[in-house]
Amino acid sequence: MSFTVRAIEALSIVAAWSLVVIHMIRLARAGTLASWWTPALLPAGMLLADFASGIVHWAADTWGSVSMPLLGRRFLHPFRVHHTNPDDFLLRDPIDCNGDVAMLNLPILLAMFLATPGNVAVFLLAFAIAALPTNQVHQWAHRPDPPRLVRWLQRLGLLLNPSAHQRHHREPHTANYCIATGWCNRPLTAIRFFPALERIITCLTGLEPRADDEAFAQEART
Ligand SMILES: [Zn+2]
Ligand SMILES: [Zn+2]
Repeated sequence: MSFTVRAIEALSIVAAWSLVVIHMIRLARAGTLASWWTPALLPAGMLLADFASGIVHWAADTWGSVSMPLLGRRFLHPFRVHHTNPDDFLLRDPIDCNGDVAMLNLPILLAMFLATPGNVAVFLLAFAIAALPTNQVHQWAHRPDPPRLVRWLQRLGLLLNPSAHQRHHREPHTANYCIATGWCNRPLTAIRFFPALERIITCLTGLEPRADDEAFAQEART
């Protein structure tokens, strides 16, 4: 990875978490964090972050090809590799692991300055707090020895549970896409959300889900 990309990733992480702290102070000063709605808005924002992690993961696993310009190599390739060689993910350091997600969250954190420090801002802040460590939480779910506090939160179901995530790693990799907290996995599986979405997309576009993922896995085996 080039020095420039790494510097942008490191700066994105610092900027995103700095903005989280600034928004927290802003909301606390405005008295919004003491609102009656806050205890409901915090888990709701975190739930949406988990749902968003599932949508992004599902889209990257299911559609497009690694040979696509820009997105293919930079965005889709790590998802394909993660299925054929999950342990490769453990070699990524915190900057490499968390940079892209921080970058994706920056527009949301910046847009929050346009809103008055009210309930919407609390909801978006909860979203960002759960979304920013998505890849870190995912990596912890693969570690045989995560930090003790993390293991405790995994057992409580507050962070992605390793055994629930292992279900995603069984072929054809179509279960439990959500990787921020994992809270949405069970309800989305119960209503067969992603298969229904795939049927609609295939019907509209004629594209076959996971065509590239399967070809990539076959190539990796040979
Ligand atoms: Zn996957
Ligand atoms: Zn994984």
